[in-house]
Amino acid sequence: MAKNQDPGIQQVAVSRATAKALAKGHPWIIADETTRQWPAGDTGDLLHLQDDEGRFYGTALYDPQSRVCGRWLSWERLTGLTTAWLRRRLALAARLRPYVVADGVGAYRLINGEGDGLPGLTIDRYGSVLLVQYYSLIWQPYEDMLVAAMEHEWQPEAIFIKERPHNTRKLEAGTTQVPIRLVYGEAPPEPLLVAEGDLTFAVRLQQGLHTGLFLDQRENRGDLRQRVAGCRVLNLFAYTGAFSVAALAGGAQEVVSVDAAARYCQWAEENCYLNGFVAGHRTLTEDAFSALQAMREEGERFDFIVADPPSFATTRKSRFQTRGGTGRLVAAALAVLAPEGFLVLASNHQRVDWPAYLQDIHQGAQGGNRLLRVVHQASQSGDFPFPPGFTEGRYLKYVVLQAIPSA
Ligand code: SAH
Repeated sequence: MAKNQDPGIQQVAVSRATAKALAKGHPWIIADETTRQWPAGDTGDLLHLQDDEGRFYGTALYDPQSRVCGRWLSWERLTGLTTAWLRRRLALAARLRPYVVADGVGAYRLINGEGDGLPGLTIDRYGSVLLVQYYSLIWQPYEDMLVAAMEHEWQPEAIFIKERPHNTRKLEAGTTQVPIRLVYGEAPPEPLLVAEGDLTFAVRLQQGLHTGLFLDQRENRGDLRQRVAGCRVLNLFAYTGAFSVAALAGGAQEVVSVDAAARYCQWAEENCYLNGFVAGHRTLTEDAFSALQAMREEGERFDFIVADPPSFATTRKSRFQTRGGTGRLVAAALAVLAPEGFLVLASNHQRVDWPAYLQDIHQGAQGGNRLLRVVHQASQSGDFPFPPGFTEGRYLKYVVLQAIPSA
């Protein structure tokens, strides 16, 4: 539950390395020898940061239990967070959205943590329902203020709060429940149908780690849509089939969605049905690598292969990890890609940067004895802004490659 006592203020020193990182615009204070000397304090306390020469480095919020033990907020010497301050940050975020989200999009990100000046906090809109996610517990003491400010800014029908625990990997494997609380309004019936232009998607906010629609891939769905008219498309790691729906909307002749989870394959069918695409879509509940192997033996060929795997996943049949796994995936996919066909790859792995990612893709092409060339690269859509010095903020990689003859 939210505690509502006033958070304290601590005057603290940061190490030289942290001061340097802050000066470069990286808004996290990572626990180190210096932070271990800090006073005990409570989660959500304000930290006034200074280096060993007494230079002021702004105000941060204290998260004493975490590796990221401070999250930078402002160059000002803030002495408390007020509803008025929170409202200003929400209003600033709200003013950006019409510039970065097209009309007719009913699900998008309203607050993207560090990029919207509220580190460790995200707020997503799904129609008239808002979903808050805490990536750090620093916001808990301010919860009542936050809910009031959200109500004022957006007048939602309901607000849910999810605490994103540290162990997302376990959650992705489905072994842990995600705590979700309704903190305002009435819980809507599920699924909730949300619009993305002329498309409709079914989302489920109250179960599992994810809602059924990755908002950060919105523009990339639009990108795929305008490339695939008349093509045979294979969507690996299809999840709820959002890329499949986009491909069908773009006039793909046939789309095959592969996902290891039967529940998601059904959800993909539901999404196709909602958009009137029944013919032309097929799902396969299968491990992506086994499916590729079988398709190779059957001599299948696709004009487009989309693969947006999780950063880490363990299923009964295989273990996937972006680093190393990407190459293996590319090699396997190339065996069923038509000559001059396109490979559409995505990764949200924060720690694999573009050069490393492209290198893995290259290694995979070599393993598959094919040549590839990059024809398009993109990241997340503009409702996921990030400060330029915050490398983790630029996590999404989406790349379209074409296979070309090596002779
Ligand atoms: N591309 C999707 C998101 C993918 S999420 C979209 O844009 O909506 C990752 C998906 O990969 C999950 O649905 C998970 O069930 C699936 N998955 C994980 N390991 C897999 C494997 N080895 N083979 C097939 N699917 C797998």
